[in-house]
Amino acid sequence: MLSPLDYLFGLFSLDIGIDLGTANTLVSVRGKGIVINEPSFVAIEKRSQQPIEVGARAKEMWSKNPKDILVVRPLRDGVISEFEVTEAMLHHLIAKAHEQTWVPIPRPRVVVGIPSGVTEVEKRAVFDAAISAGAREAYLIEEPVAAAIGAGLPVQETRGSMIVDIGGGTTEVAIFSLGGIVISRSIRVAGDEMDEDIVRYMRNKHNLLIGEPTAEKVKIQIGSAYPLPEETTMPVKGRNLVTGLPASVEVSSIEIREALSGSVEILVDNIKDALDDTPPELVADLMDSGIVLAGGGSLLRGLEQRITEEVNIRGTVADDAMTCVARGAGRVLEDYNNLRRLLAGLERGSTQH
Ligand code: ADP
Ligand code: MG
Repeated sequence: MLSPLDYLFGLFSLDIGIDLGTANTLVSVRGKGIVINEPSFVAIEKRSQQPIEVGARAKEMWSKNPKDILVVRPLRDGVISEFEVTEAMLHHLIAKAHEQTWVPIPRPRVVVGIPSGVTEVEKRAVFDAAISAGAREAYLIEEPVAAAIGAGLPVQETRGSMIVDIGGGTTEVAIFSLGGIVISRSIRVAGDEMDEDIVRYMRNKHNLLIGEPTAEKVKIQIGSAYPLPEETTMPVKGRNLVTGLPASVEVSSIEIREALSGSVEILVDNIKDALDDTPPELVADLMDSGIVLAGGGSLLRGLEQRITEEVNIRGTVADDAMTCVARGAGRVLEDYNNLRRLLAGLERGSTQH
């Protein structure tokens, strides 16, 4: 329970929700919406081992590959790999969110979305990082839970609902009923894997070597999970593996769908698998409420139709699918009494400050 003092504090405090995604980091502030949306990159100066840039600027450095700077993606595989880097990122985000307020207010309360299935040690690391990065109170929430809240699913109600959050590094499936999670699944197949599929396909079928950024562009431009009303093509530039020379190949959306088919199948199987373990009455609920898709990966063309057809439950992409986790995390503090039981443990204010 919040004490009366906490409640009073809450009225004047900055409440922020943070989505530490494998691909993108977002911050939402109560009353303002999304204030930060940047790639999850951190640039570290090799000599001093100090983080020097975070977000878009760090990603820019990454593409230029400077020799005295190490650019890391600390959350790439959905796991928080390094405490200092995560702390630097959180510090940057909290400071930036704080900067945008006009009145002097106490240090913020922060809810951080973490991939489901992270270890207790990792949870502790994120929590400590948030506190040492300047949060007055920190709370953790599993990303699919935050995504479901952000997408407006009735997670507090008795009836069942289902979210599939497809990010860069992980796809998380969660089924809710009776105010909590009943079933959850997390796999390491999501947007990044699709990019790798395209890199592999271009190499094997066209002898063309391309990088992941190019593959991602191809995926976004012509990728799909279901036949398109009008199939298209686009030129893809890379290096011919036989001649070693630059080359451009015209590739069709049909080919790219084939390239992505393995990953898409794994995604669909993961959903089927979760449904297999779901009690029948709950499945009946889901047939009414449908499956809500969130995360950048859910924007792959035709994924809704593909899921609808394969699992026989209607799939729909949430509004503003890429911001669901940050918005959902931010909303927890607004409705703390009802939503607190959906938090992922480790909730506490900092006492040492
Ligand atoms: P995370 O939560 O892991 O940071 P996001 O939810 O931000 O991930 O989604 C990032 C992923 O979404 C990337 O793999 C990106 O390529 C993919 N993505 C973004 N837009 C699209 C699109 N229109 N079609 C297909 N994939 C997309
Ligand atoms: Mg995410």
